[in-house]
This record gives sequence, C-alpha cells and structure tokens, in this order.
Amino acid sequence: MQKSSGKYIKELSKLIDESRNIGLICHINPDGDAVGSMVGLYHYLTSKGKQCSMISPNGLQEFLLWMKGTEYITNAEVEPGRALTVIKESDLIILLDFNHPSRIGGLDNYLRDNKSRKIVLIDHHPIPEVDADFVISEPSFSSTAELILELVLHIEGEGFYNRDFFEPVYVGMMTDTGNFNFGSFDGNTLRNVAYMLDSGLDKDCITNRIYNNFSASRMKLMGFALYERMVVLENYNTAYIYLLREDLDRFNHSVGDTEGFVNLPLTIEGVVFSLLFIEKDDSIKISLRSKGNFEVNSFAEKYFYGGGHMNAAGGRSSLHIYECLTYFESLLPEQKEQLNETSREVK
Ligand code: 5GP
Ligand code: MN
Repeated sequence: MQKSSGKYIKELSKLIDESRNIGLICHINPDGDAVGSMVGLYHYLTSKGKQCSMISPNGLQEFLLWMKGTEYITNAEVEPGRALTVIKESDLIILLDFNHPSRIGGLDNYLRDNKSRKIVLIDHHPIPEVDADFVISEPSFSSTAELILELVLHIEGEGFYNRDFFEPVYVGMMTDTGNFNFGSFDGNTLRNVAYMLDSGLDKDCITNRIYNNFSASRMKLMGFALYERMVVLENYNTAYIYLLREDLDRFNHSVGDTEGFVNLPLTIEGVVFSLLFIEKDDSIKISLRSKGNFEVNSFAEKYFYGGGHMNAAGGRSSLHIYECLTYFESLLPEQKEQLNETSREVK
C-alpha cells in the first residue's frame, strides 16, 4: 500500500519510544495540513501514553476550530511564555509542514537556544533547510498529513483505526489537494483515503465542516474580488486578484475568509499562473499558484521573500499595494515565454 515512508520507521519509533514529553510545532498562518498534521499526531501520540503539547506560531483560522484537540494548541503570539515552557520541557520536538526556519518566526530562536532535545522534521516541501536531528522530507506526498498517516500505519500495521487521528489527517489531505482536485496526489493518496473510509471515516461530515460552512459575507467578498479586483493578463497566461484593507473591512472579513480565492483564476481557460495579493497592516501577503511546469516557489523566493511548492507558494512585499502590483507586472515580460509554453503544454 505505502510508498517510501517505511525507511524512516526504525529511527522515528526509537525517538518516540525514548521520549515522554513531545512538543509539536506547525508553521505560521497554519493551513488545514499544518493543523490536521499536528492535531492528528497529537491524538496518536497521546493514545500511546505520551505527554504531548502543540504550538502554533499564531492563531488558527476559524474553519479549522471544530477539529477535536485544536482547543489545546498554544498560540505563541498570545502566550509566548507558555510556548517557551513547552519547548524547554520537551524531550522531543516534531516540526510539521514547513521547510525553512523562517516559517515559525521567533520560535526558531527558542529552539536554537534550547538545544538539549532532539528535533524531528516531518514535511512534504522540497529542499528542507531546517536544522533537525532527523529529517523526514517527502515532496512526492500530497500533504504532510498523508506522510504522517503512512508513518503511523507502518508502525501500527494493517487494521489500525483511530478516529481522532484519521479525521484531522483527512482534513490535511483534503485541503492541501483542494478536495482531491489538484496538487501532488496520486493513486497512493486515494488508496490511503480508501483505507480510512473503509475504517468508517465520515467524509461527508468533514466536507460539510470544511467546504460547506462559509459565511454569507465571505461569499460576497469572493464575488466582489472576482468582479472588481481580478486582473487577467491574457498575453502572459496570468491572472491575479488583489484585496485592499478597506475591501476586507467592508465584507467583515475574518481570518480564513480568503482561503481558496487564489485558485479561482486558474479555472480560466489559458491561465497557468494565478496570484492573490492581500493588503495587511504592515505588508502585502502574496499567494501564488500555477499549473504545469511553471515554478511559483522559485518565483516567490526570487522576488517576494517566499517559497513553497512548485505549484503553490507564498511570499510577501513591503511595497504599497499598487506599487507591488506594478512591480509584479514588470516581472512578467521575462517570464512570458515560459508562461506561454506552459499554457500550451497543459492544454
Ligand atoms: P499560501 O498561499 O496558502 O499561504 O501558501 C502556499 C504554500 O506556500 C504553502 O505550502 C506554504 O507552506 C508555502 N508558503 C507560504 N508562504 C511561504 C513563505 O513565506 N516561505 C516559504 N518557504 N513557503 C511559503
Ligand atoms: Mn502541506
């Protein structure tokens, strides 16, 4: 059933067996995969008798809060002292769903100052640059959650069932693939889903909680974004959406409302590069998505202090929003050939 994850089991089992207090840390602005991976692992490890604590560098999006266990996550922005205590008191720290230390902000300094414990990274982004004693990095996986599922199934063997573990894991797999719609999922992902469904996982309940649970104002913000704030640049097979702070205020924006907006322009015929620019208090948050071989992670790294996957990345800019958009458009002529070619390839 499983892919390459078996090779990690011996070392991972040893590290877990030798630890009593385990701290789990996910990336900043945690998405469904980051939270699903962390909460899933929490339920698994506590079922094995481990003392387990979870830390997020900042707050969670509302649409994820129904997941059992999220109430135990320490928000390091709100309770930095508690996050530091968890790090100090853990024998083992497991870092989840990121490939660069900047993705956990100031928590990285805490980790570097407290070096006595072991650190494990479990991630599916390419080229991990995280300082860890043991790195489990598998970019071919749909999600960190799927990687964790396989690791646990390897350890526990066929027949393993733990509903509290499966639910958040399914959330991670589902959200990182846009409900099994795009991204790096394969036959193996679907076999892993099938395993959980055969074990009684209630997928409809989870789908309703993740995808059929939006506020009316979020839908209106989406309509406004598409009608008033989307720019299609046909020559470059590119489209972007930008949202000003006043737009977010007008539609009573709450955290997570813009989740998924960046994928919408990719449904336009010919568009292979899509971006979402959101004006925050002190910077512009940029999400980038692509089809085919156009690498948005290297684009984000080169021009917007970011990174991520080949087809899904993030970054930021400290320019004024309109300056940022002008700057972005000025970068496109250099990419034109590649964008046009990618568009022809994916047709
Ligand atoms: P999103 O657009 O949903 O914020 O992020 C898309 C993907 O890019 C995610 O896999 C996320 O982990 C990654 N990503 C987002 N922002 C950054 C960033 O600033 N640096 C790096 N290295 N990856 C990022
Ligand atoms: Mn992920």
